[in-house]
Amino acid sequence: MKTTKLIYEAWKNSRHPLPYETSVEKREVELLDPVEDKDFQPNAGGKCYLCGEEFSGGIPKGKLLKSTFTDHSFAKSPESDCVCAACAFAILTNPNRRQALRWFSFCAADTLTICNRWQLRSFLREPPDPPFVLAATVSQKKHIAIKSAISYSRERYLANLEDETIDVSRQAMIADMDLIESLMGLGFSKTNINEMNFSRKTDPAINPTAISEISGLIEQRKKDRTFALALYAAQEKTQEDAICYMDLQLTTKPWRKEHKLFTPCTEAGTKTEDLQGLTCGHKSNDSFDRAPKEQLTLEDLLTASSGKWDAER
Ligand SMILES: [Zn+2]
Repeated sequence: MKTTKLIYEAWKNSRHPLPYETSVEKREVELLDPVEDKDFQPNAGGKCYLCGEEFSGGIPKGKLLKSTFTDHSFAKSPESDCVCAACAFAILTNPNRRQALRWFSFCAADTLTICNRWQLRSFLREPPDPPFVLAATVSQKKHIAIKSAISYSRERYLANLEDETIDVSRQAMIADMDLIESLMGLGFSKTNINEMNFSRKTDPAINPTAISEISGLIEQRKKDRTFALALYAAQEKTQEDAICYMDLQLTTKPWRKEHKLFTPCTEAGTKTEDLQGLTCGHKSNDSFDRAPKEQLTLEDLLTASSGKWDAER
């Protein structure tokens, strides 16, 4: 099955209009069924200009693809002059509601979900049963659907970040995301993390040795594009969860002093000793949750993550 066909079928199986909700808006999204487009020709046939599949019923490419369409290099049947309904669905803007698939990140499986950032994050960590198509848009302008791919495994799947199709290990995705979200919870921005700029002061102050180790880990992980996708979808952990994840408990293990995350805080504000008593909550989804009764240590994090990823890559 072609990617756009899976997406179109998923949409047809979904309840319309599709719900879409973010922290600032709640609305309904009504995408246009190509068979209702004024230029749809039920008797058109042959091979689709974009996906190359045999089809019955489509829209002439001259009507569908405006002069602003710049993705002709993706056409699988350049000699054809018509686009199938499934590909047209991925391209069309609904003239009545001014809504289009390209404006949204989405996951298509049995049904189509247009995703806010939290939903995207959830699908990246827990994809649906295959086959599925998962894509994240940043620009909201690109026709990502015609460039995305079908995944047949939840553990090793394909996901688009804009035009780029990324080969994702689900465990690496979860590990990258947990690391990024913990750093965000400690007060670093996504830009800080991407640029490995940890020079700003945190309260409590983070051990320079730990920062150096985290920077090294990020430098290594950034070579895998999974990291960029994880960075885009990441949501900030609370400081409490972040500290749990990064293991403040190391401060109570003097024999591993060199790995503790925080240096003692002597200034006003959050006291290190106040944070020492924190215990991690449930971490059932954490990839490093292999010894539930023990605190995760930064050392564990660094060792487990690099070893695990090296083994899987
Ligand atoms: Zn097509």
